[in-house]
Order: sequence, then C-alpha cells, then structure tokens
Amino acid sequence: MNDNEQNKQELQEAEVKQEESKKNHSGRRCLICGREEGPDVRLLSLPNGVCFCEDCMQEGMNSFQEPPEMHNIFQNLPDLSFLNLNDLIGGPRRNFGKKKKTEKQEEKQQPHFEMKTIMHPHRIKAGLDAYVVGQEHAKKVLSVAVYNHYKRIIAEEKRLQAAEQDSLADVKPPVEIEKSNVLMLGPTGSGKTYLVKTLARLLDVPLAITDATSLTEAGYIGDDIESVVSKLLAAADNDVERAEHGIIFVDEIDKIAKKKNTNQRDVSGEAVQQGMLKLLEGAEVEVPVGATSKNAMVPLVTVNTKNILFIVGGAFPGLNDIIKERLTQKSSIGFQADLRDRFDNEKNLLQRATTEDLRKFGMIPEFLGRLPILCPLEALTEEMMIRILCEPENAILKQYEALLAMDEVRLTFEEEALSVIAKKALEMDTGARALRSILEEFMLEIMYEIPKDESIGEVVITADYLNHKGSPRILLRGMRSLGSGAN
Ligand code: ADP
Repeated sequence: MNDNEQNKQELQEAEVKQEESKKNHSGRRCLICGREEGPDVRLLSLPNGVCFCEDCMQEGMNSFQEPPEMHNIFQNLPDLSFLNLNDLIGGPRRNFGKKKKTEKQEEKQQPHFEMKTIMHPHRIKAGLDAYVVGQEHAKKVLSVAVYNHYKRIIAEEKRLQAAEQDSLADVKPPVEIEKSNVLMLGPTGSGKTYLVKTLARLLDVPLAITDATSLTEAGYIGDDIESVVSKLLAAADNDVERAEHGIIFVDEIDKIAKKKNTNQRDVSGEAVQQGMLKLLEGAEVEVPVGATSKNAMVPLVTVNTKNILFIVGGAFPGLNDIIKERLTQKSSIGFQADLRDRFDNEKNLLQRATTEDLRKFGMIPEFLGRLPILCPLEALTEEMMIRILCEPENAILKQYEALLAMDEVRLTFEEEALSVIAKKALEMDTGARALRSILEEFMLEIMYEIPKDESIGEVVITADYLNHKGSPRILLRGMRSLGSGAN
C-alpha cells in the first residue's frame, strides 16, 4: 500500500469514528454534574427537557432519606437553591421527618415558667391529699422535688440568658441547680403509680408510664430505652415543647438491678441502667412520631430530656434484708447491741433505705447518682385500707354508691364490714389493688339483683355477708330494715 492509499484509509477510519461519536454523544448534559451523555454516561430524561445522569439520580434518591440540609448534591446548581426530585417527577411531596424548631417556636419557648405561677409545695401536697391516703412523708418529698424541679427550669433559663449577656455586662450567672429525679421505694400497691398519676394531673403536664422490665439495651428484643420518650411525646399529643416539661415514670425499676453471678451479657439489667443515664441527666434524643420504634417510614423529632422529671419506682423485694444487715452490724458495734429480731418486726424498714443499700441490691452508683431524691412509701395498714375505701375523691365505695344511686338505691356499709374487707386485702399482699377485686366479687350479686326489684330503697353490706355467714340487709322504700338477702 502506497502513502496515498494509507492516508485515504486513515481518513475514512477517522470519519467512521466521528460518525459513531456523533451517534453516541447527543450533546445533552446532566443538569447536576454537567457531564455529557456518552457510552459511559447514560442520561435519564424528565419532563421539561431536564436530564440527570444515573449517578446523580441515584445520589438524589438516596438523599431522600436525609433531612433537607443534607441535600448537598443540589447546592451546586446555579439556578436552584433546593430541588425536590419529587417535584420534577410529579410524585407526591414527601414530608421530611426531622422538624426543626422555627424562630417563632423558639420565641414562644421562653419563659416557660415563672415563680408566681408554679405551685408551692403545700398546694401540691393538698392536691395529692385529696386522692392519696397516708404516705405523708412521700407526698412531702414529691411536692418539694417537683417544686424544685420547676424552680430549676426557671433558674436554668435565667442562667442561659445571663450567659448570653455576659459579654455585654459583667453579670454573674446564677448557680446551676442539679436535676432532682426521684426514686420511689414502696411495697406493691402502696400508691407509687397512683401518686405520680395524681401529680401529673394536678400539674397538667404529660405523663408517660413505662415498665422497666419491657426495656432492653438497644438492638435487643424488647423496647429500646428511648421509647419512653416516644411515649411521653405521644402523651403530649406530639407537642415537643409540652413533652420536654413532662414526667416519665419508670415502674418496676428493681427488676433492672445488676444480675449477680452471670456470665451472659446483661441486656435487660445493668445495660438498661447504663442506657438510662443520659436520659436521666438530660440528652437530645431523636424519637419517632406516632410510633415507639424508629424506621425509615416514621418521621423523627428531637426531644431534649434535660427538663423532663424522671420518677422511678420499685418494691425492691430483698432490700429489707440488706437494710436489716446494715442496721444490726452498726448496732452490734455499740454497747447496747440491738437484736436482729427487733428489725424483723419493723414493717417500714424501706423508710430507712440508703443509697448504699440500693447499690448492694444491684443498682449501679452512676444510676443512683442521677436519682438524688429517695422517696420511701409506707406499707398500708388496716386503718389506711379502710380510709382508701372511703375517703379519696374517687374512692371505690363512692363509685359503687354513685352506681346504685342511679337506680335510686342507697348503699351503706357496716363499720365492721369495712374492717373485714381491709383484713382480706391485707392477706392478699397486693396492697390497695386487692380492695377493688374483693369488692367486685361481693358486689356482683347485688348489682345484678337490685335493678330487678323497684321496691328496694337501701342495701346495707354487713360483715356477715362478707364472711359468707349471712346476707346484706335490704331496706324497702319508706320502710325500716327487713333483713332479707339480695342473693
Ligand atoms: P404501686 O405502688 O404498685 O404502683 P398503685 O399506685 O398502682 O400501686 O396502686 C394501685 C391502686 O391502689 C391505685 O390505683 C389506687 O386506686 C389504690 N391506692 C394505692 N395506694 C393508695 C393510697 N395511698 N391512697 C389511695 N389509693 C391508693
């Protein structure tokens, strides 16, 4: 082949290549990265002549899972500050979960509480007195703890304000007051949950009640520790600000004591205590709205737990022995050594519990350190049981009286009958919870029979009826006692 022929062939090959290149390169470019369409760059066309390369499209789709501030991919576009791919595709608008507080909301946030509007301890206690019988010490401890908790919020707001102004004037910020979370100890059915419920209603703050036994370390079967904050958010109708000043009550806290002599990972004991430390102290947690577990489909909000009052409670079975041991050891050192039996008969040993006893029980020191207020409850006595039956605003007897009053029948109890009910409840060892079940059993027949006979005007519950030795006394309208039974 001579030179001329070789040149001609090379020219033809170059023309073919150019032709092929023209075919592959349409001149269209990706709107985001600017790369031209070609064999290595495939473009996807959208309405309005908009094109994206596959890589940018993928990145855009991935960033759908991220909050708007993470959409870096769109920030380099000259004419678009933020682009929602859904808008271009014509799909539904997606609401990004993480809500950021707007300036308006932030303005609304302060000040939350003022000294003249927060309830004084004596008023809180008076409110509790109307519903909760006895437990005088516990009610006082709680009232002061709550009062101090809200004072702390006020002081904290002032402190932050002062810190902001610090650069302008030489203002000394007020002392930082530590959080006063509460640890309640008391036998089952002595009114721990009831006290907290009444308190939350009184203060008109949202309340979440959780059982510590359902909690496990994140990643294990059971509820994540942060789920308690989700519950509070739900109780506050998803109002983050209200939730941030609410109360979280974690019951059965003794069940998450450190397990002794175990080689396995303690995912529902010590690990849960560890996991709760940050929440108790105050942390920003991301919680799902309208669900207790996080997943891609549920929007998230950030809740700060620093102003949430945590109250934990438990019966701490076995703690009595630890306290007894400590007390006998201490007294045997002195000249008048007390005998161990002296404490065996003491019903309210829990009142003498110290942090050290709780640490021996299996609560870790860091956990106890974040619950500085110990609030022991008394074991219920017969006299307290009777008062619980009759005195509170919504006492069980008042409820039955109201039910029968709707049938225009008066319900009364012999004094001795009340004592029988109280004794039976004490035998069941489930605290005041037993009262309702005992009454329900005895009242069933009466509630069934009374509406049958319109002539009945009054029912008197007697001790004999409760002891299965007789019937209740029935009084007809306008007549005195007849002594016939309703059953
Ligand atoms: P726990 O101490 O196990 O949390 P609860 O607070 O749930 O017990 O008490 C069970 C029920 O018993 C309550 O709903 C309440 O009706 C009644 N109760 C218990 N203690 C008292 C009390 N001191 N005063 C009035 N009612 C009480």
